[in-house]
Amino acid sequence: MISKMQDHTWGTSCVEGTKEMAKALASLVEAGDCMELSGDLGAGKTQFVQGLAAGLGVSAQVISPTFNILLSYIDGRIPLFHFDLYRLDDALELEDIGFYDVLEDEGVVCIEWGDKFPEALPDDRLIVYLSSKSALEDVAARTIDIDATGKRSRELRALWEEALEKAAERFQGLR
Ligand code: ADP
Ligand code: MG
Repeated sequence: MISKMQDHTWGTSCVEGTKEMAKALASLVEAGDCMELSGDLGAGKTQFVQGLAAGLGVSAQVISPTFNILLSYIDGRIPLFHFDLYRLDDALELEDIGFYDVLEDEGVVCIEWGDKFPEALPDDRLIVYLSSKSALEDVAARTIDIDATGKRSRELRALWEEALEKAAERFQGLR
């Protein structure tokens, strides 16, 4: 289930809800869009990217790039580049792993743990912050805050939230 908590803050009650949110975004993204995913270990960042990939029509199983740092999926509507910067210690390593080259590519970029190196990220990006803190009693509940840092990401967020309003209404109707 997806519910609106307040402006730019949404709640999901289970992993499927988080994936549904990501799927709604998948139909709106364009080549060049960048999503920073932040939140603690186990918050649901990789699950979110799985939903996004499914929405883009990626057929491969999306796994965590914690060890590879970058995993690419090119068979969907738009190429998807999935980073996980958890294991990087220094922003200087980004050059070596081809981070900046990928940002120039015609694809959609998702960056887990991007908040480790904010100065290295594109100025205009959607920030999706997942958290389970607000609902300690419910282990499957997540709060998802959506931030936007520029013109395109604000436009994308507006379109996404419009779609989420409709999805949330559908869930309301089912109850
Ligand atoms: P991260 O990439 O942030 O470290 P993962 O996406 O790998 O986290 O793992 C999130 C875990 O939390 C998964 O085991 C998933 O099944 C579980 N989970 C439970 N509820 C939710 C939810 N509402 N949204 C996302 N993940 C959830
Ligand atoms: Mg992860």
